[in-house]
Amino acid sequence: MPSPKPFQKTLNPLFAGLQTSVFETMSMRARALQAINLGQGFPDDPGPEDVRAKAAEAVLTGWNQYPPMMGLPELRQAVSAHYLKWHNLQTDWEQEVMITSGATEALAGALMALIEPGDEVVLFQPLYDAYLPLVLRAGGVPKFVNLSPPHWQFDEAALAAAFSDKTKLVLFNNPLNPAAVVYDKQAMELLARFCIRHDVIALCDEVWEHVVFDGRQHIPMLAIEGMRERTVKIGSAGKIFSLTGWKVGFVVATPALMKVLAKAHQFITFTTPPNLQAAVAYGLGKDDSYFEGMRHSMMRSRDRFTTGLMQCGFTVLPSEGTYFLTVDLAPLGLSDDVAFCHKMIEETGVAAIPMSAFYAQDPVKTTIRFCFAKKDETLDAALEKLARFI
Ligand code: PMP
Ligand code: GLN
Repeated sequence: MPSPKPFQKTLNPLFAGLQTSVFETMSMRARALQAINLGQGFPDDPGPEDVRAKAAEAVLTGWNQYPPMMGLPELRQAVSAHYLKWHNLQTDWEQEVMITSGATEALAGALMALIEPGDEVVLFQPLYDAYLPLVLRAGGVPKFVNLSPPHWQFDEAALAAAFSDKTKLVLFNNPLNPAAVVYDKQAMELLARFCIRHDVIALCDEVWEHVVFDGRQHIPMLAIEGMRERTVKIGSAGKIFSLTGWKVGFVVATPALMKVLAKAHQFITFTTPPNLQAAVAYGLGKDDSYFEGMRHSMMRSRDRFTTGLMQCGFTVLPSEGTYFLTVDLAPLGLSDDVAFCHKMIEETGVAAIPMSAFYAQDPVKTTIRFCFAKKDETLDAALEKLARFI
């Protein structure tokens, strides 16, 4: 038998040339070495039992066929009510709210639907790993704004260098993964001025909106003056309920934008599992005490881990939100975050993420990211190993 003829044409070079994501890579290493995985961001708590019970009940007794393309009405109403209650945002659930299969689908769909080849797209570095490949695949031309430790802030000059009349869209992640910054109203108003001046859409990845600490309040970009008509807000139940595998995302945008976003969604996933949607609709209506309790418990873990890391001799940068904190290696005289993370996982059995993986160009190579959304015993076991290592 002749051997089968191999396929020889070029595959899409962008995806063919991509490496496996840093999260998957570090999680695979952690599994292989049986290390404590403080890399990929997921809690080791099973998540709220009542929300999981609602999902189980909906699987057994609810509707398991295609739900409506835009999402279950009960969930779209719950998203609208939730944002009204928590962020004082008025939205029309029928025209302005759509449910997607995670924030990742929402991001991919929005970039496909809103960008035309050649449009410039402003991105902030460090950036969440999915952004750049999706922008490039949609034909966008990235323009970077660099954020630097320890404060990771941007100013007028940095925005002026990145924005022009060719800018179509800015992708803004607030609270920011991986740097754990929560941008204040002043920073958002500065960014808004550039969006309005250059007629730019703000695609706002706000998946960490509930995971904010020390009494901070998340401000949605939609609420900033002049931004209502040009903002696409993305949220994720995975983060709100510490159920990162659930992949239920929310998109909020003005009807003119939503019409086009919905067209992308209808041909990417079309819909999202109805049972998970039903459980998220229930969860969004939970008492304030759930959301405050979640923040409080994350903050306790952040403080426990920060104190322990400092006792080990690490310099810890402030974490204002998200499941993450960052460590500055520069005071230890180290300048290769990738080498450090590999050495750390091999020699101590603790995994973290080198932050240079979140840069497309000119990476900062002196910071690493730890996920502290773990049980006390997990954090303490990691600290014990790290103390010996350092
Ligand atoms: N954006 C950011 C900034 C994230 O951190 C994550 C996941 N950690 C996502 C998007 C993806 O969210 P989802 O799992 O809902 O797709
Ligand atoms: N968002 C998660 C993190 O930042 C990872 C998600 C993923 O692995 N794609 O760790």
